[in-house]
Amino acid sequence: MTMRRFNIFLLLFVLFATVARAEWVSGDRAIMGTAVRVELWHEDPRKGAEMVEEVMNEMHRIDALMSTYKEDSEISAVNRDAARSPVSVSDELAKLVVRSLEMSRLTGGAFDVTYASAGYLYDFRARQRPQAGQIEEALEAIDFRLVEVDADHSTIAFRRNGVRIDLGGIAKGYAVERGAAILRGNGIEHGIVTAGGDSRIVGDRRGKPWVVGVRHPRDKQRVITRMPLRDEAISTSGDYERFFEEDGVRYHHIIEPATGRSASAVYSVTIIGPDATMTDGLSTSVFVLGVEAGLSLLEKLPEYEGVIVDNSGAMHYTSGLTAPQ
Ligand code: ADP
Ligand code: MG
Repeated sequence: MTMRRFNIFLLLFVLFATVARAEWVSGDRAIMGTAVRVELWHEDPRKGAEMVEEVMNEMHRIDALMSTYKEDSEISAVNRDAARSPVSVSDELAKLVVRSLEMSRLTGGAFDVTYASAGYLYDFRARQRPQAGQIEEALEAIDFRLVEVDADHSTIAFRRNGVRIDLGGIAKGYAVERGAAILRGNGIEHGIVTAGGDSRIVGDRRGKPWVVGVRHPRDKQRVITRMPLRDEAISTSGDYERFFEEDGVRYHHIIEPATGRSASAVYSVTIIGPDATMTDGLSTSVFVLGVEAGLSLLEKLPEYEGVIVDNSGAMHYTSGLTAPQ
């Protein structure tokens, strides 16, 4: 065999080996109290698996920063001390709190991280809820204007006692957005990063859209609609993730800042758009706002669309989406 022919053989072999081995790589993990899934297409499955790990590590990092369940997280330090004096935080946390405050302004206060001033009194797993008197007292500490962020010095201060913040309404969207950025930075053209009800899609599913199903809010087995998506984020907020029922009332984890009680106008909200931090924040916000105010907010945001299932089970779509035939 001549050297040249040998080289061509070698080339063909290498090509074949690469093409044959390219495949979908995925990983599943429980992080941030939810199911995290990463799926991507890679020429080299071993490298693909490393990228899945890299995204998982990023999720753990964000959780360690923002979990109110972890005593040593930055957010826990803020909740302990920010009413006494400004607390130094990372630039990253300061920025996300600023984005949360912007979301509050955009939604007329439907989104409000100080919901936690009352929210911490609920424990949905233990079926615990605050008494009316406790809620009344906590209401004075629910107001996003009580949170002061000094972006230049990366400090957070509260303007009164009793204020607590929790980024649970936006952190998972932020985390999947960061995960998707890692994939793109590694040259991935087809992938998805999901944390519970929040997904960020990178590219398409190799020539086809990614199809994300939205489950029926009262029947796990049923899918109410399927969204074909490319390069987009999708978030669902529902009253069926963390809840308990007592005397016919459903107590769940999305709290109306005005009352300190679970919002009850809708069963679920799904938002799609270009940025997962936004779709996550908006799904929580529109849940609180209800059908009319929620749709009117979404109509002002041309890049974002939504589907709402109201508390009679009826579906409502923004004008950019059409109801399934
Ligand atoms: P999930 O966490 O199930 O994905 P959401 O994205 O709707 O659902 O976020 C719900 C979380 O948002 C709650 O667990 C809580 O941490 C936080 N939250 C609840 N009510 C509000 C509110 N009015 N504004 C901002 N965050 C909220
Ligand atoms: Mg949300």
